[in-house]
Amino acid sequence: MSETEFYACDVLVVGAGAAGLSAAHAFAAQGRSVIVVGKVETHLAGRTVALFEGSLRFFRALGLWDACEPHAAPMEGIRLIDDTGSLFPTAPKEFRSREIDLDAFGQNIENNALVAELAAAARENPAITLIEGLLDTFELNYSGARARLVGGGWIDAKFIVAGEGRNSQARQIAGITVKTWTYPQTALTVLLKHEKPHHNISTEWHKRSGPFTFVPLQGREGAPHRSSMVWLVSPREAVRLQALYPEELAGEIQDQSHDKFGHIELDGPVGAFPMGALKTDRVTGLRLALIGESAHLFPPIGAQGLNLTLRDVANLVDCLEGLDLDEPDPISRALKRYERDRARDIGFRVNSIDVLNRSLLVHALPVDFARAFALNFFSAVGPLRRALMREGVTPHGPTPKLMRERPPVFSRAARR
Ligand SMILES: Cc1cc2nc3c(=O)[nH]c(=O)nc-3n(C[C@H](O)[C@H](O)[C@H](O)COP(=O)(O)OP(=O)(O)OC[C@H]3O[C@@H](n4cnc5c(N)ncnc54)[C@H](O)[C@@H]3O)c2cc1C
Repeated sequence: MSETEFYACDVLVVGAGAAGLSAAHAFAAQGRSVIVVGKVETHLAGRTVALFEGSLRFFRALGLWDACEPHAAPMEGIRLIDDTGSLFPTAPKEFRSREIDLDAFGQNIENNALVAELAAAARENPAITLIEGLLDTFELNYSGARARLVGGGWIDAKFIVAGEGRNSQARQIAGITVKTWTYPQTALTVLLKHEKPHHNISTEWHKRSGPFTFVPLQGREGAPHRSSMVWLVSPREAVRLQALYPEELAGEIQDQSHDKFGHIELDGPVGAFPMGALKTDRVTGLRLALIGESAHLFPPIGAQGLNLTLRDVANLVDCLEGLDLDEPDPISRALKRYERDRARDIGFRVNSIDVLNRSLLVHALPVDFARAFALNFFSAVGPLRRALMREGVTPHGPTPKLMRERPPVFSRAARR
């Protein structure tokens, strides 16, 4: 690609992970011409995402879920088990989706399969140009935006959606301040095959190092019972566990799960992800909006990360609906609305996951007592219990159009 090569579009999406590709599809469905730039990475070890009802509605509305569904397994229940050894132990708690009139809380899908399907659909969509590269320079002006491709070439855009993750350069150019912090934890991830069925229930043991979770996965030939595991451990323990032979690690996982799923074998490579968090003072700039991990990051507790990201996207699409992107003033007003709408949702998730995670890491009787009391109280009082379940699946506040119960259906044929 030469320095003089030149592209133009309505919306430039930075990042071709699950966030960026989802945004590309949503803006294409709104009738915008979209360029999405990023590396399509489909070799993330052991990672899955549990997508809740709102996120599934989003993908269904865009005609994307049919291709993903064969890779996904439903989550009809969530089981929480206190394994901290605290002096205030709580009895195991089980939450069922039918208590809030849903067949399932959501579906668990391998990250790689989701990204591969979103990328394949983007390549087929005439409104989307997918460039598998990187951008290294951004210019944001009142009259338009521009970005340079590494290796040459410029993209002119009326609007930029920054979904390139925690080290977002577009965020930096927009002068958005970011606060980051780390936790003394690494998430070990791996897909597992096990002897006993999971019955479509996700099981989360709360341990002193953080949650240790089995999330249901679709079975396959020769391995009818499969789950994905996320285990938060200290960085030193992560190094030790990663150095084990596969059968030794499987044995330790079996011990940690108290044999609940019988004999366990690894079903793929092991991933290790250092835990950190991030929040920003704003999520907008001149002709720019942040989505996903450019705007928020937190540990994988309660499966909130990508679900929150898809609410960013669906909300941004609503804010820009019907706007002529050549006109700067209506865009500024739309971005004020996006800023206001996202502040509460993002702030609530980043802060509550921070508190929950620290409550496991801190060895203090009052904290143990407060955690046990809160869990017992919320799970025992029917309306609170259901409100808690609904909040995890379809959070309170205005629901974006793409996440409503009967969202508009954009078929691929209709878009062409
Ligand atoms: C262990 C673990 C378990 C999780 N489980 C869940 C779950 O169950 N449910 C859930 O909702 N969330 C979950 N999450 C969070 C979820 O996985 C992430 O939010 C999501 O995968 C992030 O996707 P993304 O597209 O924002 O970022 P990424 O996947 O990091 O993609 C970033 C993209 O930006 C591109 N890029 C970077 N720099 C540039 C540049 N300069 N120019 C162009 N492109 C660039 C990259 O090439 C890449 O394509 C989990 C996270 C972890 C760590």
